[in-house]
Amino acid sequence: MTRRQFLLEESRLPKAWYNINPDLPVPPQPVLHPKTLEPVTPDFLSVLFPMALIQQEVSTERYLEIPEPVREIYRLWRPTPLLRATRLEKALDTPAHIYFKYEGVSPVGSHKPNTAVPQAFYNKEAGTKALATETGAGQWGSAMAMACNFFGLDLEIFMVKVSYHQKPYRRVIMDNFGAKVFASPTDRTHAGRAALAADPESPGSLGLAISEAVETAATSGGARKYALGSVLGHVLTHQTVIGLEALEQMEMADEYPDFVIGCAGGGSSFAGLAYPFLRENLTNGKKTKIIAVEPASCPSMTRGKYAFDYGDTAASAPVMKMHTLGHTFIPPSIHAGGLRYHGMSPSVSALVDHGDVEARAVKQLETFAAAVEFSRAEGILPAPESAHAVRVAIDEALEAKRKGEKKVILFNLSGHGHFDMMAYDAYHRGQLSDHEYPQSQVDEAMTHLPKVG
Ligand SMILES: *Cc1c(COP(=O)(O)O)cnc(C)c1O
Repeated sequence: MTRRQFLLEESRLPKAWYNINPDLPVPPQPVLHPKTLEPVTPDFLSVLFPMALIQQEVSTERYLEIPEPVREIYRLWRPTPLLRATRLEKALDTPAHIYFKYEGVSPVGSHKPNTAVPQAFYNKEAGTKALATETGAGQWGSAMAMACNFFGLDLEIFMVKVSYHQKPYRRVIMDNFGAKVFASPTDRTHAGRAALAADPESPGSLGLAISEAVETAATSGGARKYALGSVLGHVLTHQTVIGLEALEQMEMADEYPDFVIGCAGGGSSFAGLAYPFLRENLTNGKKTKIIAVEPASCPSMTRGKYAFDYGDTAASAPVMKMHTLGHTFIPPSIHAGGLRYHGMSPSVSALVDHGDVEARAVKQLETFAAAVEFSRAEGILPAPESAHAVRVAIDEALEAKRKGEKKVILFNLSGHGHFDMMAYDAYHRGQLSDHEYPQSQVDEAMTHLPKVG
């Protein structure tokens, strides 16, 4: 009997996160102030974030202790299972061994609470009473709503308008946890009013919702702070609990991955699984191929520029060096809502640029085809975001079959797709199409990058 489940005891939940900063092969680039384009001071960041998170952002400690109250909440669903997809292997008739780390078992169905919980915790410790954040498809908003509920924090969420109407059930989860949810653009902020003046029917975008949430925090006179669900270093560090567990679980399976694969929107779930394995590449002589997968319709790593850009549409958030499609990028309305950000985490960008991480883009239809194939073999309907990783895992398993090689493949199933049935329905009705982002629009957006140095 081939073993399928590799489960860790509750007591084996990691006690520290892995911080990649000291192991990065290239020095980190400074974060710049959006107005002066000079390196930001902790004072500027402290308007938005509690000091503990700012310190994690720049920390050079390799391991950061996970506070006990955070571990106590993690244990509601962690450690998460590592599963071997034996039925998918059989369906593909591949000699490859396919493993996946399943983050869809969290209460809100994705990896996002791994950072929402510590972010709420550190804010509570610092005396914060209220937070503001944005959400695209609603996964981050529901994770943050749950975390704020646990720590008794007030939360205002700017939800991209098109998703607010298309995905009402996620909004109901946020309501249930006591958060206030607004369809962005709103008339509550300058950024929102400007967008509505330009286009009263504006469907919104993640970059714009970030502008609204940042403005809400920055103009609150210190009463309200801001939380970001991806991109920043501290977010990626919190997510490494995924990969640290997976390293132990692969050991239980007595195998080591040749491939580690994750989808990448802002890069947090990808880094969460990949960075502990990347540590083994960088410091321990391992040679795992590490692949970050993005949609061909939002190709920041494969077709964007590695340059300094604003984190948001209104150019009010800090400027960072990253792969970007330009902060003025308006993403096409593909269904993997969590992958529609114009930029990419600075550390993931640096690692792609340096050749330690491979970036790949896949199209929408082949991605849904992979998700359906996976679900028919393994029973789980992946989130459309996670399906990008499934696509590349299947591609590599088929490549191994062609070459007759027994490769070991590990991918991150970052969430389930139970709130994405409209997308699956559209796919099965033949109503989805492929969309490649036109080069002319990439080029146009590049003319709006800040002129740094
Ligand atoms: C938000 C989300 C993503 C994309 O965000 P990252 O920060 O790149 O991980 C991927 N998968 C799921 C299920 C998500 O909810």
